Formats: sequence, structure tokens, C-alpha cells
Amino acid sequence: MTVEYAVPAAPRPTVEVAGSALVFPVRRIFCVARNYAAHAREMGMGSGRAPPFFFTKPADAVIASGRAVPYPSRTRNLHHEIELVVALGTGGREVGIDAALVLVFGYAVGNDLTRRDVQASAKEQGHPWDAAKGFDHAAPISPIVPVARAGHPAAGRIWLEVNGKLRQQGDLADMIWSVPEIIAELSTWFELAPGDLIFTGTPAGVGPLVPGDHVQGGVDGVGVLEHSMASR
Ligand code: MN
Repeated sequence: MTVEYAVPAAPRPTVEVAGSALVFPVRRIFCVARNYAAHAREMGMGSGRAPPFFFTKPADAVIASGRAVPYPSRTRNLHHEIELVVALGTGGREVGIDAALVLVFGYAVGNDLTRRDVQASAKEQGHPWDAAKGFDHAAPISPIVPVARAGHPAAGRIWLEVNGKLRQQGDLADMIWSVPEIIAELSTWFELAPGDLIFTGTPAGVGPLVPGDHVQGGVDGVGVLEHSMASR
């Protein structure tokens, strides 16, 4: 039976798969907050091993590498956060740490764009983070490199430059919660499924972007993300 929609149905958001004509269909975008001690400190939080906490972005926040990202409305302090992104090829719930990597289809480089001023006021007022994190085009992402090519990177440089100047630098080995631990924990909150993306947190050095900026960031062994910032 053919489904007939009452209003136009949105196209499914997708991400390129490196070295393939196939595209990755995005189901949900989960993000881990404060997963590098030095970044947790720069945000004024403790850097201890408190359980990871999660927020989300809508699936259609993805925007491909190479595009111009429109500067979002209602912020005067848009921040970059370079992150390793995990792309799931299978799902599950209550997944054990030892079985977690089996779910992974591949890895990408993402920028968890953040309206930092909006986030700060949400924290102060106890409001949700959605407007700070889940706005249109809030998730620039590189092509996904399948595990067959990328392996499961657990160490390696993660970095971001703005207009050729180094802003963020860290090492995946410094993640407070590893990828298997993140998947296992996340799967106790949500049933995970193919198409889910997980942004795994950013190293220290987050800072503002302005229209006209050129952003380039990467993770060793995974790839490079680049995008410009357009005016609104
Ligand atoms: Mn982040």
C-alpha cells in the first residue's frame, strides 16, 4: 500500500561514505558533553569521571563538508567543537562494552556547532539546550570512513584550524569515555539503530566563529572536515 502524506515529506538526511557511491542515512544524532578533561575545565566544570551525559541534534542538522554554513540567528557567540563522530551500522539496547564496537559502521569528523551564549543562559536558567545545540546546519560532517578502512581509532590527533590558525588540538586517547563505553552507556538510555550518529566530545580550545571564517579540522586516520561560515 502506498503511503500518502498530508504535507510534503522531508527528504532523509544523508552523509557521504568515503570511497563509495553509497550514502549513510541519518536516523538520530546523539552527542556526548565534556569528554576531554581539558575542555571540561575550560567550561568551568570538574574533569572527573562523572557518568557521560548526552544531548541530541535533529538528523537534518547535518551539512556536508565543503559547504558554506549559514551563521545562525539569535547568537553573538557561535562556537566550534571538533569531534570524532561514530556512525552506527547496527543497533541494540543494553549493549555490553565488549560488544559495542560491532555496532560501528564507520567514523567521521564533525563540528558540534554551539550557540555558546544561548547555552550559557540555558544553563543559568535551567532551560533545555536544544536552541543552543540543535539548530539548522548545526552539524557539519565529513564523509564517513568505513571501519574496514579506518579501523577503530582510539588514539591519534584531533585538531581544528580557523583561517589557518590552530585553535583546538587533542588526542583521542584523552577521551574520558571511550567509544565502546559511550555506545554501551547510550544504549541504556535509547535503543540504538542503524543510521545513528554519535558526536563523542571535543578537546580544549573551543572558540568563536564569524561570517567569512574558513574552518578546517581533522582526526588522524579518519579524515578532514572543512567548511566556511556564510553570513545569515
Ligand atoms: Mn560537543
